[in-house]
Amino acid sequence: MPLTFFPAWLTYRRFIKGVFVVTYVRREYPEWSWSFSRSQVFESCKRRYYYQYYGSHNGWEDSASQEQKTAYRLKKLANLFTVLGEAVHTVAEQAAAKAAAGQQLPQPESVEESIRAALRTAYKDSRDRRPDFLRRPNRVLMLHEFYYGGGPDARLVETIKERAKRCAEHLLGCQTMVELQGSSPELLQCENFDTFPMNGTPVFAVPDLMYRVESGRMVLVDWKTGAQEEEHRQQLAFYAMYLVEKHRTSPERILGRLEYLNGGSHEDVRFDRAALDRAEERALASMGEMRQYLADVKLNQPLAKKRYPLTDNRHQCPSCSFFELCQDELERGADVDG
Ligand code: SF4
Repeated sequence: MPLTFFPAWLTYRRFIKGVFVVTYVRREYPEWSWSFSRSQVFESCKRRYYYQYYGSHNGWEDSASQEQKTAYRLKKLANLFTVLGEAVHTVAEQAAAKAAAGQQLPQPESVEESIRAALRTAYKDSRDRRPDFLRRPNRVLMLHEFYYGGGPDARLVETIKERAKRCAEHLLGCQTMVELQGSSPELLQCENFDTFPMNGTPVFAVPDLMYRVESGRMVLVDWKTGAQEEEHRQQLAFYAMYLVEKHRTSPERILGRLEYLNGGSHEDVRFDRAALDRAEERALASMGEMRQYLADVKLNQPLAKKRYPLTDNRHQCPSCSFFELCQDELERGADVDG
């Protein structure tokens, strides 16, 4: 999901006298929804899940508690890998639009430069604009590496630079670009923050890119800048469900594609009804587990924070955005299960 500087799900737009008016709607508790990434956070650490989806809610308000404000600020932290991923998604979207329109693709050097420019901005803002971030965390990018330390070490910077170069090169020659240039495809619109309903729950699952080729087959693409993982196929199944719901197509007419831009490979995934039913079962089970951590399911009111335990896999804590809020508890080794 792209980085956003505005909590769009807390607003609604009205068309008044020819202009859209964005209105802030205050909610005591966040709206209930589900996404694959939400389920991953839930699996990784219940306390992280609490801060990400509940403890940070309303943390942008002046009257919020200090903990809410801190959780909201920490939720906004990025790292060099997420900034790289975001920048690659931006250039991939631009390149796909050009390829589909029959225009010439940019040179790898200029794509790499666009990615590196985004990384430089993130680096400089994090290094130089800490007071601005503390004041307006939704307006300034801050890297975890600067927030919690003196910045990324030289080896990490080198790794990211090499990855930016490889992603730029592989993007322009990837299977999707070849297909877009040769098949007069119709690009299908993806709405940021769009959802589809599953048993009454709004599910966020919007693919990075969707297009229809001449045969009528729909292709959905997910750009990846990291290593291959089995979970990625699961994620694609939810995107396929979105496509089935929004475009009233059958699973068999969808081709999912994972483009691994760092390694320069891709994996095509086909679907059938049974595969999507299994994905739905998994999502419903995950929703059921999440609801066990609610005091009021209708209001989406969470249980008290202490009911969301710290993870046992403490190796992930130093790189977690919410480390600042857990540090004392981690050092005390407190039993927080009660
Ligand atoms: S610092 Fe560790 S325990 Fe705390 S939220 Fe993050 S992963 Fe969970």
